[in-house]
Amino acid sequence: MCTIKKIAFFVMLASFIACNNPAPKPVVKKDSVVAVPQAKAGDPMKLDSSKRYIYLTWDDSPQPPGTTVSKNVFHQQGVKATFFVVGSNQVGPYKTRIVDSLRNGYPEFLMANHSFSHAKINGKDNYSLFYKRADSAVVDFLKNEKELQVGVKIIRLPGNNSWVGKGKIQGPKSTLEVCKRLDSLGYKVIGWDIEWNQNKTVPKESVDEMVKKVNEKFESGYTFEQNCLVILSHDRLFAKPQYADSLNKFISILKKDPRNVFETIDHYPLAMRK
Ligand SMILES: [Zn+2]
Repeated sequence: MCTIKKIAFFVMLASFIACNNPAPKPVVKKDSVVAVPQAKAGDPMKLDSSKRYIYLTWDDSPQPPGTTVSKNVFHQQGVKATFFVVGSNQVGPYKTRIVDSLRNGYPEFLMANHSFSHAKINGKDNYSLFYKRADSAVVDFLKNEKELQVGVKIIRLPGNNSWVGKGKIQGPKSTLEVCKRLDSLGYKVIGWDIEWNQNKTVPKESVDEMVKKVNEKFESGYTFEQNCLVILSHDRLFAKPQYADSLNKFISILKKDPRNVFETIDHYPLAMRK
């Protein structure tokens, strides 16, 4: 065989071997595939009694730019937070996208129910009439749940610090009928232990005052649930850069205490109670 023929022969032989002996495919054993379960809003978790759980709960979302600013601060700080949404605030595609991002933001963010109308009757907040008409108030919460696709049965009442869970109700008498009905439908109502109040459209307390409030409340033991603190504020207060900065500082200081853990409100003891 001449050299050229020899080369041609070996090339043919090599390609024949390659065709009949394909590279072995990686063997994936069935039991070696680890299924990572997706965290689902409302799934319970075990709390550590040596920790202090902080629940940042921001009301009246979506209210851009405050909602997006707050979300960005929480994200950059790596802390979890809950946004209580109001259906009537979701007007137009931009606000719809914000609500979508909250709904899809779990486990970082939890979206919960703050009523559809925010107790507005004829365009104005009218808490006394809203709670007096208990049936229509309940319909308003159910409407919000449906329209915004709120995935958890957790509610904050507009304008009232009421708590409801498994037959236990605490709060102003005016909300009692609504609370009873929500309880019978299996809803949990979450109030708050302390508030970062508003002065017109900006935060009223300084960062230091808020940190003091947090520590004093934990130390007093007068929180609704032991070792758990629900903080209420509103997205809109942190829209301006200087107040976004306050929120950043507040969280940075709290993070320095190794006992502090930030959780979403579905992991609050009352919300997890069966
Ligand atoms: Zn509100």
